[in-house]
Amino acid sequence: MALIVQKYGGTSVKDTDRIKKVAQRVADYRKRGDQIIVVVSAMGGVTDRLIGLANEIMPEPTEREMDMLLATGEQTTIALMAMALNQLDVSAVSLTGAQAGIVTDGVHTKAKIRNITPRQVHQMLDEGKVVIVAGFQGQTAEGHITTLGRGGSDLTAIAIASAVKADLCQIYTDVDGVYTTDPRLVPNAKKLDEISYDEMLELASAGAKVMQSRSVEFAKKFGVPFEVRSSLNQNPGTIVKEETANMENVVVRGVSLDKNQAKVTLVGVPDRPGVASRIFKALSQAAVNVDMIVQNVGHGDKPATDLSFTVERGDLPKSQRVIDELREDIGFTKVVAQAEMGKLSVVGVGMKSHSGIAAKLFEILSEQRINIDMISTSEIKISVVISLAQAEEALKAAHQAFIG
Ligand code: ASP
Ligand code: MG
Repeated sequence: MALIVQKYGGTSVKDTDRIKKVAQRVADYRKRGDQIIVVVSAMGGVTDRLIGLANEIMPEPTEREMDMLLATGEQTTIALMAMALNQLDVSAVSLTGAQAGIVTDGVHTKAKIRNITPRQVHQMLDEGKVVIVAGFQGQTAEGHITTLGRGGSDLTAIAIASAVKADLCQIYTDVDGVYTTDPRLVPNAKKLDEISYDEMLELASAGAKVMQSRSVEFAKKFGVPFEVRSSLNQNPGTIVKEETANMENVVVRGVSLDKNQAKVTLVGVPDRPGVASRIFKALSQAAVNVDMIVQNVGHGDKPATDLSFTVERGDLPKSQRVIDELREDIGFTKVVAQAEMGKLSVVGVGMKSHSGIAAKLFEILSEQRINIDMISTSEIKISVVISLAQAEEALKAAHQAFIG
């Protein structure tokens, strides 16, 4: 008998038909004698609809009331799921995040889990029930309802799996697992059997969003292996786990493309201490998330240099405003903004022990006559910023060369 946590996302429970199908799957596991905790998201689209309702009333509702509202989405699903299981003669009970013992800090709409005391969960499992827990929500020590940030049901599942020391944690979604790249862009993308936490995080930060990154970080920190798989078929999914020695045999695990990049270049920036600090402090105060930064060396007796950085495209106007305000003060010559950029990343733990990956990537791009604007590397990733117009072509070529 195994203790299993299964999480079903919004598309897996988007209507009552899907909820009944999920209930059938849970019932099948239950019949094998496993103990099951089911974590569910709101039915697909519901969270967005609730946000829309709030905005019909006021543009910026208090975050406390927002949490109160959004938590109802998951609460609807847990009750319906318990009913669907009861209808199949499976004993089941639903619990809110608070009832499941999830205690968070008080940062409404993006609360962090402080601790979990799953007393009721254990008790009900012992009574032979399937326990259905509302994802995405918790409660402060003072009893206020909180939510964990968009996509937070993943985090609920991982955190509960860790708290109850589950034998297995399965994240059910509408794709078969984690792919070598986005199958919508590259049809011969392959489903991976396994991937390390770090590779998954790098691919996510590079644009491949299968799961909320925070929950992968949490899983890594607490050593919770999990499986990403589809609720629409019985195919095995992708196991996400701690890196193992043989994982390094695969040099490139995946290739990803972030099409949502923009680039800002400051030309003729005086090369003296404190300049970068002022630029990036101003951007951070404006809540602009800067991704890649490249600075050249200054030459001559009045050294000046060019400094480029990337931001999400939506943050470009704000970034330009912030930078324009600094121009006279810092004394750079001009600002050049390019809104249509993409970031191509090649990821794999095997890069730690294999060399030449960067050279190969640059060669592939040069063969396609694609100009590289910026380069950045980490121990397990190489990213290049290129023009958006050529980005998909670059992705296909890189996937073909590294993965096949
Ligand atoms: N319902 C929440 C959202 O849409 C949480 C989740 O689905 O994981 O973000
Ligand atoms: Mg979701």
